[in-house]
Parts: sequence; structure tokens; C-alpha cells
Amino acid sequence: MLNEKMLNLGENRSVIREIFEFGNKRRAEVGAENVYDFSLGNPSIPAPKEVNETMVKLLTELDPVKLHGYTSAQGAPDVRKTIADSINKRFGVNANPDLIYMTCGAAASLTICLNAICNEGDEVIALAPFFPEYRVFVEKAGAKLVVAKCRESDFQIDFDALEKAITKNTKAIIVNSPNNPTGVVLSKDTIVKLATLLNKKQTEYNKRIFIICDEPYRELAYDVEVPYIPSFYDNTLVCYSYSKSLSLPGERIGYIFVSPKIENAGKVYAAVCGAGRALGFVCAPSLLQFTVRDCVDLTGDVSAYKKNRDLLYGALTEYGYNAAKPDGAFYLFIKSPEADANAFCERAKKYDLLLVPSDSFGFEGYVRISYCVSYSQIEKSLPYFKKLVDEYK
Ligand code: PLP
Repeated sequence: MLNEKMLNLGENRSVIREIFEFGNKRRAEVGAENVYDFSLGNPSIPAPKEVNETMVKLLTELDPVKLHGYTSAQGAPDVRKTIADSINKRFGVNANPDLIYMTCGAAASLTICLNAICNEGDEVIALAPFFPEYRVFVEKAGAKLVVAKCRESDFQIDFDALEKAITKNTKAIIVNSPNNPTGVVLSKDTIVKLATLLNKKQTEYNKRIFIICDEPYRELAYDVEVPYIPSFYDNTLVCYSYSKSLSLPGERIGYIFVSPKIENAGKVYAAVCGAGRALGFVCAPSLLQFTVRDCVDLTGDVSAYKKNRDLLYGALTEYGYNAAKPDGAFYLFIKSPEADANAFCERAKKYDLLLVPSDSFGFEGYVRISYCVSYSQIEKSLPYFKKLVDEYK
């Protein structure tokens, strides 16, 4: 007898993967240049050249036994120290290496944090629209996912909806800014209000409520500041990833930072180490740990994404699509011209425009466009976006 839940997850691929597979079929039929695949969040800019140079240097100069050996379960001490120093230099939050845990990217960080803090019956709030894997991660940690929808006008937090979602069982809220799928960056005002609400609820229920910041897109922001949540709220766990900031999604590297302001932060960190152990996530890839240590303050050239954002947002809103202007990440979230976003995405396929309907993000009636593609692909796709929307006029 297999685990039915796992079987179900394995047999039912995510909507995004299904679209990507459809794209592969179409690429084989009509040529890759004629398929406008906006489905996946795979960075389209290369990792900075320093990343490859660092890897080559490590491979040629370091003792291979050390380089390829296990590090400490929570990550090499000098790697964690370098990251803690960098966090302090940028945000001044007293990070210390003994509260940093190296992981295989944000996905691993999220599952580790959720398993570290959740017990059966706990509730974890996701702000919709949200990254669909949150449901999988939260439920595997034995908790229940509770959805609080954001304001449709600008996709900032709807505080009435959030307050209603918080109960005596709330253990955490996941905050993802810049956001997948909207590209919206939560403003400082919003974060201050969020901290105030959560502090009030902690007092009311006499319990701790964590913020889990899911931060793969922190460095992908266009001319706006992304508030650092540990500076505003004490009970914060940060899940950081280099997948998008250094264009290294296949290399699986990131970290968890446990805020020192959490009461008994050492105990929370120990639970993080325990969850990492129980989930088999000890010792993130050594070569990548040393690489991010030596490239700690580097980011890819996000100006390419900004250029794509400007072209796509400008053209699509001119054609009559509605969208909140994204300030970061590489996603545009447009309102479907018909109520059923799945039907709209099916219709878009006629032009080989591959878009993701929003239902699995917990917010119906929208479509996500991942614009981490080449500028020329966007240019070529625009006439089809126009024809598509004109069909509704
Ligand atoms: N969280 C969000 C919001 C994401 O969009 C992604 C990946 O696209 C992840 C987490 C997982 O990132 P990683 O590749 O670092 O595991």
C-alpha cells in the first residue's frame, strides 16, 4: 500500500508543468521561436560571470576532498558567517551564524521551517494569490492552509480578510514579496500594519505567530525598496534563495535565517536543524555553499527583467488588458477578459501563447505571465496578445 497523498501528488503534475510539457510538444511541431512560452519562472539572464569563475577557482584550487565533502549539517561555519555579516551590513538586524541554516533553495527552506514550527491542527495563512506549492508544504507539515485574499485593486494585504483568517490556531503567515504571481512588492506601510496586527493577535491569543518570509525574489525589484521584515516584526523566519537572484535555480542553494529577536531563538533554530535532519536536507551542496560565500553580495543584471516588464506592461495595458503594475520578480498578473481564466488560456494557445491560469494560485479569474524570456520573444508575441484581447471586443 502506497502513501495515497504522495501518489496523488506524483501523478497529478502541477498546472504549470502541464503547460510547459504542452510547450515542448508545440516547439517540436512549429519551432521554438514560434512558441511564446510564458509558463515557467526559470531565470532568462545568465548567472553573473563571477559565479562561474568562482566555481572554476574552487574546483581547481581547493582540496577536492574538502570541496566535495560533507560540511556541518547546518552548513559550513565560514559560509554562515559570511552570510550573517552580509545580512547585518544590509539590514543591521544582528544576524549571527548560529541562526543561519544552509538549504537547497527556498522550497527546502519553507518545508523545513513549516515542519520545525507546526503541529497537527495548526493553521498557516497564505495571502492569495500565492505560490501553489505552499499548500503541499503546509499540509505535509501536518497543518492546514488558510487563505486570505489580497486586495484586488493593488494586491497589497486586505487587512479585514487577514484579521478574519487569524484564529487561536494560527501558527504562521507566509509572506512573499516581491510576489509570485503578481510581481507586487509589499509596501513599508503594509508591513508595519501587518506587524501591528500580528502583535495584537499574539497578545489576544497569548501565543506566538510567526512570519515566514519567502524571499527568492528579494533582489529582483525595480527601483523600489523591499522592506526587510525582521526589522519590523520579531517572530520572523527568512527563507532566502539564490535561484533567481544569481540565476542558479538548478543548483539548489539558499538559507534560513532565524531572527535573533525571536524569544528563545536558539530553540527555534534547533527545531529548524531537527526538521532539516528529519527531511533529509542536511548539508546543502558544498560547492554551492562556497560559491555563494565568495559571491555573497552579487546579483544578476535585473535590468533585463525591468526592460521586459516595461515593454509587456506598457503594451498589454494599451491593448486593454488590466494588470497591477509589478515592481519586482518577473511576473505580470493580468485579469482574464472572460471569467474563466482556464478557457482564456486555452484560447491563447491558438496563438501559441502559453499562459498560466490563476486558479491554482488561490485567486480565480487571472492569468500569470512569466516574462523571464528574451526581449525579442516578447516583441514577437505582442501582436498575438492584441489579437487575443480583440476577440473579446
Ligand atoms: N517560493 C516562490 C514564491 C517561488 O516562486 C519559488 C520558485 O519559483 C520558490 C519558492 C522555490 O524556489 P527555490 O528554487 O529556491 O526552491
